[in-house]
Amino acid sequence: MRAEGILPIIGSKYDSLTGLYNRETFITEARLLLGARYNIKYSIVCMDISCFKIINDLFHADTGNLILRTAADYFKAKLNPRTAISCRTDADHFVLCVPSDELDMEQIIKDLDTHIQALHISHNILFFAGIYPIEDVHLPIDQMCDRAGMALRRIKGSYLTRYAYYDAKMREQMIEEQLITGNMEAALLENQFTIYLQPIYDPHKDTVASAEALVRWFHPVHGMVSPGKFIPVFERNGFIVRLDRFVWEEACRLQRKRLDEGKSVVPISVNLSRLNFYSLDLPEFLATLLEKYKLEPWMLKLEVTESAYTDNQLQLLDMISTFKELGFPVLMDDFGSGYSSLNMLKDMPLDTLKVDMAFIRELEKSERVAIILKFIVELARELGMSIVVEGVETQAQRDYVASLGDVTIQGYYFSRPLPIKDYEALLDKYLGSEKAD
Ligand code: C2E
Ligand code: CA
Ligand code: CA
Repeated sequence: MRAEGILPIIGSKYDSLTGLYNRETFITEARLLLGARYNIKYSIVCMDISCFKIINDLFHADTGNLILRTAADYFKAKLNPRTAISCRTDADHFVLCVPSDELDMEQIIKDLDTHIQALHISHNILFFAGIYPIEDVHLPIDQMCDRAGMALRRIKGSYLTRYAYYDAKMREQMIEEQLITGNMEAALLENQFTIYLQPIYDPHKDTVASAEALVRWFHPVHGMVSPGKFIPVFERNGFIVRLDRFVWEEACRLQRKRLDEGKSVVPISVNLSRLNFYSLDLPEFLATLLEKYKLEPWMLKLEVTESAYTDNQLQLLDMISTFKELGFPVLMDDFGSGYSSLNMLKDMPLDTLKVDMAFIRELEKSERVAIILKFIVELARELGMSIVVEGVETQAQRDYVASLGDVTIQGYYFSRPLPIKDYEALLDKYLGSEKAD
């Protein structure tokens, strides 16, 4: 960015656009300030603007500069020069070092909103902040800024929450996330991932109706890592697309193995994380898997989570229609957990609804939940869809769900997710080891 206009002091200590300290000066001055005022508790605040790059694209660079100068002028006027300092590190990033009891974040955000709105730029420009209340004054200033930055990243894009405080949990999470990301490629190459299968039970016929493939990670040092930990990380860094494909292939391999041994199979459902819908070769990939393992499409059910519908409805509808043309049964996972369950039901040609576990959790506490569950089952039946109720753990839950009619159940009551060997033994017990024609 180029310096424009006349600034009161321009020198290498300052950011030429805004006249605030630059990053290097800020680090030196913050260290001096914390040393001189050791009896005062300070906070480091990192701030930036939502979608600043878009603003620079949409408008002239002058507009971006005007916003940055307006914010800087506000900081200069607002902060007490004897106790607080501020800087612009780069682009739209500002950092403040302020005594904690002088920091009124609510007011700062409000004031910035007012000042920016007064510029009459036809775009919603919002400042966000992450705050690190300094506990360890000996920590390098850089690391203090990293911590405030971590809190900031946590809320970026949320709109409702404009600022957040750093806590120790965030640091642990970040370290864990880095560990997961650093290990994932090797884990896939070295076969540390495997699938477990959770049978889905038909209480009326007393048999196994289908199964869900769930990924498991056995790390040679860290042991078993829970999917609850690594799936969200892989959804953020994109690795889930490759892992999902691995899981689908493992499911196909198992089906083929049993068929080759002359044993019966039930459909295996696999999870399709929402990121998959951005890969246009997805239907082709699935069709190739069927060919490679010589399977019929009913043997692989596709589980799409309800939340994928909110991302991109048209694209999802398009994909689901293609899956249907290829003959795959499509199942909606976590049904009832989102905001648009009924809308989605109206639009999507689905075969099965899998009711979100939250319903079963509250069944015994709330008569209303029991009624809603009953109507979901009826609704599915009227629409010609089958239904799976997930998370069934007790006899009472099983009995209630079975009383609703034609439903299948998935949950610890019947079986936990099992290693392949145990799953096969269970299948053989229920279906007989010979293929039933
Ligand atoms: P999900 O797809 O809703 O899978 C069901 C989860 O509920 C599984 O947890 C399963 O072990 C658990 N569960 C089953 N019955 C019961 C029960 O009676 N009580 C309780 N409390 N839990 C039960 P898991 O295996 O830890 O997986 C968690 C989530 O991770 C899955 O939720 C899914 O969103 C994701 N996931 C697992 N494997 C894959 C995969 O291969 N690909 C993708 N994209 N996501 C996966
Ligand atoms: Ca699932
Ligand atoms: Ca589910």
